[in-house]
Amino acid sequence: MPPMKVCIVGSGNWGSSIAKIIGHNVKGSNRFNPIVNMWVYEEMIDGRKLTEIINTEHENVKYLPGHKLPKNVVAVPDITEAVKGAKILIFVIPHQFISKLCDQMKPHITEGTIGISLIKGIDEGPDGLKLISDIIREKLEIEVSVLMGANIASEVADEKFCETTIGSKNEGNGQIFKELLQTPNFRITVVQESDTVELCGALKNIVAVGAGFCDGLGFGDNTKAASCGVADLITTCYGGRNRKVAEAFVRTKKSIAELEAEMLNGQKLQGPQTSAEVYRILQKKDMIDKFPLFVAVYLICFEGKEVQEFITCLQNHPEHM
Ligand code: NAD
Ligand code: 13P
Ligand code: CA
Repeated sequence: MPPMKVCIVGSGNWGSSIAKIIGHNVKGSNRFNPIVNMWVYEEMIDGRKLTEIINTEHENVKYLPGHKLPKNVVAVPDITEAVKGAKILIFVIPHQFISKLCDQMKPHITEGTIGISLIKGIDEGPDGLKLISDIIREKLEIEVSVLMGANIASEVADEKFCETTIGSKNEGNGQIFKELLQTPNFRITVVQESDTVELCGALKNIVAVGAGFCDGLGFGDNTKAASCGVADLITTCYGGRNRKVAEAFVRTKKSIAELEAEMLNGQKLQGPQTSAEVYRILQKKDMIDKFPLFVAVYLICFEGKEVQEFITCLQNHPEHM
């Protein structure tokens, strides 16, 4: 089999960190083509195109400053150019952009292409929740695995040890992705429960917003723990962007959108939007009462509910009644 060409679809904070790993790993392998395309949503930085900066300085100066990308990672602004000849697609963009991008990619996808989604988010379908990987599966008609873990991008780029999980219904695909992505400091477990892995990765972002509220309100660790779970949840609740912006939301009284623009330099929050999507699904299923934390995060972010009332939602949790 000829070496498989890899295309990374996305080049934000996480996309650029993962490009560092992939660019390095393909070099030493017979299985993968040594040139990796990275689709970059083009923008101008101080009068220069971001793709041009990446291809000359080998650094994504906006989304992952301070880290060199391997020279065999080539930034491509046109999605149809980027995916040409690719057999492996790595999806790593903020979830709100996936649908449109898949539509643009569809005519250029060839037989036998496989994908993996690193995207944390969900969408709504006619029957309720829709996974991002399902959107990709349906639109591109390819097999899609997922990768989710407690993986703050800058720490991964710093090669600080962490673990992650690949969910893949096709075991062979899971092993290919593991070979492509594992490093001594980025350890991968492959499991078949792809949907569960993806769902946990998406929903933890809402909880992280709740953790930020707790910090903003000045509550202690016990209070914060009452709203958290394990692993990725712990990471995201201490180090993540969702948490950070939520804390600033309480302290500054500015809107989430304003703070996202002000604090993240183009990076995108997934938690508030996911809370809105989950809220609408819960509403349709008449399950609002069962998820007080998710609902409270949504109401505070988008419906003007006072953040001072945040803890009330936990005090009245159905599990305690
Ligand atoms: P990011 O938050 O840095 O987002 C910015 C990216 O979105 C940039 O590449 C920008 O060019 C692109 N963009 C802006 N407008 C766009 C448009 N209209 N169409 C397409 N792209 C556009 O991205 P990220 O951190 O790489 O996150 C991608 C996914 O990975 C998210 O679902 C996130 O939850 C997940 N994730 C992130 C981290 C992390 O620490 N950053 C870790 C694990 C998972
Ligand atoms: P944030 O998007 O909140 O930074 O979380 C990143 C992440 O998913 C860590 O695993
Ligand atoms: Ca949506």
